[in-house]
Amino acid sequence: SAVVEAPAGVVVRVAVDAPQHSGLNAPLDYASERALASGSLVRVPLGKRELLGIVWPGDAVGEPAPALRPVTAVFDALPPLGPAWCRMLDFAAGYYQRSVGELASAVLPPQLRELSPEQLVARLRKLQKKLARPAAAEPVRPALAAEQAEAVARIQAQLAAPSPKPMLLFGVTGSGKTEVYLRAAEAALASGRQVLVLVPEINLTPQLEARFTERFAALLPEPMAIVSLHSALTPAQRLQNWLAAHLGRARLVLGTRLAVFASLPDLGLIVVDEEHDPSYKQQDGARYSARDLAVWRAHDAKVPVVLGSATPSLESWQHAESGRYERLTLTTRIGGGALPRVKLFDMKTLPPSAGVTTALTAPLLAALKERLDRGEQSLVFLNRRGYAPVLHCGECQWKSDCPHCSAWRVFHKRDRTLRCHHCGFTERVPQACPNCGNHDIAPLGRGTERLEEQLAEALPGARVMRIDADSTRRKGELEAQLQAVHDGDVDILVGTQMITKGHDFRRIRFVAAVNPDGALFSSDFRAPERLFALLMQAGGRAGRDAAGESPAEMWVQTWHRDHALYQALARHDYVRFARDQLAERQSAGLPPFAHLALLRAEARTAEAAQAFLAAAAELMQDDGVLVYPPVPHAVARVADVERMQMLLEAPQRGRLQACLRAWVPALIALKRERSAEFRAVLRWAVDVDPLAI
Ligand code: ADP
Ligand code: ZN
Ligand code: ZN
Repeated sequence: SAVVEAPAGVVVRVAVDAPQHSGLNAPLDYASERALASGSLVRVPLGKRELLGIVWPGDAVGEPAPALRPVTAVFDALPPLGPAWCRMLDFAAGYYQRSVGELASAVLPPQLRELSPEQLVARLRKLQKKLARPAAAEPVRPALAAEQAEAVARIQAQLAAPSPKPMLLFGVTGSGKTEVYLRAAEAALASGRQVLVLVPEINLTPQLEARFTERFAALLPEPMAIVSLHSALTPAQRLQNWLAAHLGRARLVLGTRLAVFASLPDLGLIVVDEEHDPSYKQQDGARYSARDLAVWRAHDAKVPVVLGSATPSLESWQHAESGRYERLTLTTRIGGGALPRVKLFDMKTLPPSAGVTTALTAPLLAALKERLDRGEQSLVFLNRRGYAPVLHCGECQWKSDCPHCSAWRVFHKRDRTLRCHHCGFTERVPQACPNCGNHDIAPLGRGTERLEEQLAEALPGARVMRIDADSTRRKGELEAQLQAVHDGDVDILVGTQMITKGHDFRRIRFVAAVNPDGALFSSDFRAPERLFALLMQAGGRAGRDAAGESPAEMWVQTWHRDHALYQALARHDYVRFARDQLAERQSAGLPPFAHLALLRAEARTAEAAQAFLAAAAELMQDDGVLVYPPVPHAVARVADVERMQMLLEAPQRGRLQACLRAWVPALIALKRERSAEFRAVLRWAVDVDPLAI
């Protein structure tokens, strides 16, 4: 950088994590004895604290004023973060309306903030120790199917292109997408570049890491050459893996959304697996989309990005339709495993006496029994954990609401608790109705825990196992449960969407969704897209092997079997579903045909949140951006805080961005200048490209 050494020292601009309301959002000036390269990590004072900071690229400034505070320490042993990394942070901070310092501190390994330069040097040194790994055999690469070979060839062409186009790898589960990622990664690694692979779930990283390690152990004998980055690592591991990537020692980085911010000096390829997955969007703080940032980063670095999915997000699909993305298609399952036959079971055909409130209908039980008798595994999917969503008193109509939230507390039978899934408030189940003393309080509705119990009752002798967030709370539990499924120690697996993702179940031949209708009529415009993806993914768990003698089947219980979504599902016809949805979105002016942002406000009272949003609306200068009236969040109150939100809609992304650039500083000033009036407003935030509105 152009900073000139001067006897009195120089001024350096440092990005630090200052709170948004402080107004200190731009990089701050500090005095330094010597010029520091952009991207250098430093420690600087801010108020009474000392924080990690990054010397930020920008114009050189003059000599330090006497009052300017000095940089406290410089992490000399660490190479500076590269210009491309700083550009990405600048872009992401600007796009998602956060400060660079805040974003940097959210995405850098937490330990980096705590260690002194000396402590860090000790770690690095540790990394430099040569580790030996037993010599690995040349991997066995399967011969590619024709469509795979075509996809790989096109990715290779993009790897060589001066300005590669993003690619959408559209392929049903089991069509061999991962093998395409492996070949693409191999090509990038062989040309001396680093590869970044993003996955939606922490739970899926060990499985995929093993697959990449097995394939590349001979090519990359260095043990730190393949690392993962996700929030379940210990702080020390996370720092070590991050450093390995930053120093270029790690050649392949595999991780969840936060890994999109890994420092990768030789980046050559990005893969985003299951690109449609909602977990790529960070839901608090800097609400970034790792998928979208991956596309930006690849574009900026002029490297290819491969977005893979069986059910692409409608945003990505629309880009493929318009030609902005190149589409690579895999239509057939490897090994000839057929996609499951989809049975849409019409709940209206049940006799009224059958007890239509039951999820375990007689025909479903019969189907499960048949599979059981043949020694085949089944999976029953219900997207609600706990025993029952609510306890209810038939005498006085009391229901187990949460005193702190506008939500019911869920009945968990195993530990006899009522638990709020929003704020965590937990109590023991009362012996009698807390309102009228009636002893006969009963669960309403059903969650996975109750389904597990009912299945075990209805099918004596069946080995039923449940996998959800409750059954896998302790470390290692999920792995043990999955192993039991693989080993054939389970006949019927019950679970939430957790079991529909990625896991390569070989023995499952029957999948049932017992109560999926809710999402059809949700006020959330993305609910059908999510439901379709979830059901396709759940169905994808069945019949991955052609070995079974009976056809694999997916059973969907619905009151709306003629609904277009189910009709498309029955034909495995994502293309048709996407066409219908995109037509609806276009006529309703919804993404990807419009661009949205939400202003969220949380306050002690709904009135206070609403007043703040109304004042914010008045500050809106751009009449090309539509501002909707404030409305309560879908769960309006959580932990005694009222949540309101206001939707902004613009026909072009650029228009929305320009408007936010002017508006957000005005909101910061609004809260500061009218602090007495808005005292009850605890937090506010802008969510750009929100997933749910
Ligand atoms: P997807 O990621 O699309 O669900 P995978 O890449 O996991 O599919 O492939 C499904 C299975 O087929 C895996 O067990 C994989 O090892 C195997 N496979 C993939 N490509 C081939 C191939 N060309 N020849 C033989 N087996 C393959
Ligand atoms: Zn009562
Ligand atoms: Zn609560």
